[in-house]
Amino acid sequence: MAIINDILQGFLTTVKGMIVTGKECFVPAVTVQYPTEKRPIPERFRGMLVNDASICIACDKCVRICPVNCLYCEGEGKGKARRASVFTIDYVKCCWCALCVEVCPVDSLYMSHDYETVFTDRSQMIRDFCQDPIPPIGGRQKPAEESSDNPAEKKEGESNSGRAAA
Ligand code: SF4
Ligand code: SF4
Repeated sequence: MAIINDILQGFLTTVKGMIVTGKECFVPAVTVQYPTEKRPIPERFRGMLVNDASICIACDKCVRICPVNCLYCEGEGKGKARRASVFTIDYVKCCWCALCVEVCPVDSLYMSHDYETVFTDRSQMIRDFCQDPIPPIGGRQKPAEESSDNPAEKKEGESNSGRAAA
């Protein structure tokens, strides 16, 4: 009698499991077929940190505030003509805190929406944005009004942080 009871219990358990499985067949899929499909990225998403060296004024504010010392900057020129000649980010050390982005007076430094970055060597994780300017990594389209000769002046009363991610 006990064996019949076991068989019955086993059968009922299987049926219950199949009912649960069957219900899931009619639930819309929550997965996406990455990489052909991608989920929308929130506006404040922190992807690869990049610097638009063409407007960076080499003020060093980001370098000084970085808690892990992963930024390096050298500049050339004086006053309004000053621009970065070397600007490196060491992605090995960066903790994506975005403190550097907050202090940048010209919004040249920003978190892009790019998260599909692959490195095959640690040396590739140090990028000089003067030698290797954006794009390709996460480059945003620069609005025409940002091509001012003096980007530092744009901070006053004008936001240029709304550039769209590529
Ligand atoms: S995000 Fe933070 S850790 Fe990374 S470079 Fe900026 S300040 Fe440094
Ligand atoms: S804070 Fe901005 S402008 Fe100043 S050095 Fe850093 S990236 Fe360049």
